[in-house]
Amino acid sequence: MSFKQLAASQPAVAAVLQRSIANNRLAHAYLFAGDALEDMELAARELAKAVNCQSPTKQGGCDRCDACLKIDATTPPGGQHPDVQWIRPESKSRVIVIDQTREMEKTLQLKPTMGRMKVGVIVEADRLHPNAANSFLKTLEEPPDRSLLLLLSAAPGQLLETIQSRCQRVQFGAAAAREPVAAHAPLVDGLMALLGGGGSVLRAYKLFDTFRIYLDAEKKRIEEQVEQTAQLDRYRQTADPKWLEKKEEEMEAQVSAEYRRQRAAALTTLEWLLRDVLVCIEGGDAALVFYRDRGDALRKLATAQSRERALANIETLETLQSQLERNVNEALALEVALLRLSGLTAPSAAT
Ligand SMILES: [Zn+2]
Repeated sequence: MSFKQLAASQPAVAAVLQRSIANNRLAHAYLFAGDALEDMELAARELAKAVNCQSPTKQGGCDRCDACLKIDATTPPGGQHPDVQWIRPESKSRVIVIDQTREMEKTLQLKPTMGRMKVGVIVEADRLHPNAANSFLKTLEEPPDRSLLLLLSAAPGQLLETIQSRCQRVQFGAAAAREPVAAHAPLVDGLMALLGGGGSVLRAYKLFDTFRIYLDAEKKRIEEQVEQTAQLDRYRQTADPKWLEKKEEEMEAQVSAEYRRQRAAALTTLEWLLRDVLVCIEGGDAALVFYRDRGDALRKLATAQSRERALANIETLETLQSQLERNVNEALALEVALLRLSGLTAPSAAT
């Protein structure tokens, strides 16, 4: 019944949430983290049903009662249940604005009208405008009675620390289908050369350069895209300066969020390569390899590397990802990580 679909794609998450439901131990607020956004939305609906179903089981909602059907309804987006409210980035600006969070906060303060609990879901919570985030933080600090807050994010590190710390984090696994991104190919080539280079500073700096060029181009592309969508120049002569300023702030936040997302995605493709090397070292099934077209080169790398080294390399990239999420100096962190990957410095050096 309920949770079945989620269990198929995210078995660990489904098990954790169902256990909390069965033990009546749901947290006030959850942060769903990972890049499988569809799975996270599914999990949010399952939780909303579990707390509002008219004939709930220990496993969750019944999927058949009026409440469950209203929550599962696809029109309007977010369903038809009066106590379950969804907000997500507005289509044009791709930012969640304060008006949206205010409206959600207002409904959360009211008593449930049909179900037992008010549920507020924020999809792509990392897109909260700073004003909206600050205002929502107050709700998190003093959650209304009988309310459940669910934040969904593929880039949870971009949320305010204070928001992150007030939510119980649930990590989702990778989305099922993944394909190498063509634009990342030069980075992947560079990393392969670096790993096969036996401690070459030159190769580390070559990859560093490739990375900088890639990131600069991404930033420019994103800025152009955001500017084009906003078409601010059309209003520059006539619009209220305050409105313009607000718009520009929003655009800046959008560019920064998208840039971070793309940077993290590029690093993730490199992590997949390191993971492939490990799979080959372990003699794993060829079907587990992500970069199948590079099978021979990968196997060659694997024979030249120890298991410890391969694990340390993955750790190096994970450390880099979490450092970048915390806003450290990008160039410096990247340089240190690449030198470490070249095998020149100890992989476990202090961060
Ligand atoms: Zn039901």
